[in-house]
Amino acid sequence: MAVRNIRQMGDEILTKKCREIKLLTPRIRLLIEDMLDTMYEANGVGLAAPQVGVLKRVVVVDIGEGPIVLINPRLLESSGEQTGEEACLSVPGKYGIVTRPMYVKIEAWNEDMERVVLEGEELLARAFCHEIEHLEGHMYVEKVEDGLHEAVYEEEDE
Ligand code: ZN
Repeated sequence: MAVRNIRQMGDEILTKKCREIKLLTPRIRLLIEDMLDTMYEANGVGLAAPQVGVLKRVVVVDIGEGPIVLINPRLLESSGEQTGEEACLSVPGKYGIVTRPMYVKIEAWNEDMERVVLEGEELLARAFCHEIEHLEGHMYVEKVEDGLHEAVYEEEDE
């Protein structure tokens, strides 16, 4: 297990389409563990493999309800709309306003290569959409409605 280096916007790997996973090799298992470590270390709610420099269709998400591992995720259904703030570990210190579906249903394979169908609303729907787009080489900054804003962090209490 290890924290990997997060690629920043401008790195061309973030613009490339990722390849499907056909077999859960030890290398992919290690990638998944490292992605979880990297996401938690950076206090993110999601991370896609290209963000650590690997062009494979693997995503990890945790909106505070436990880790979700998605292999070869695919959007099945979406409905409604939500407009709100979004950020990305590859675009540190910034956020933007993005409109996403309020609800999505996705298909993926979990860390045991079992097919799962998951539903997400609100933040989880937003995270699923954001991360799946990374696998296609796209980033939320392409969708922001009012440009990128500087994130202002509140000072932490001692
Ligand atoms: Zn991102």
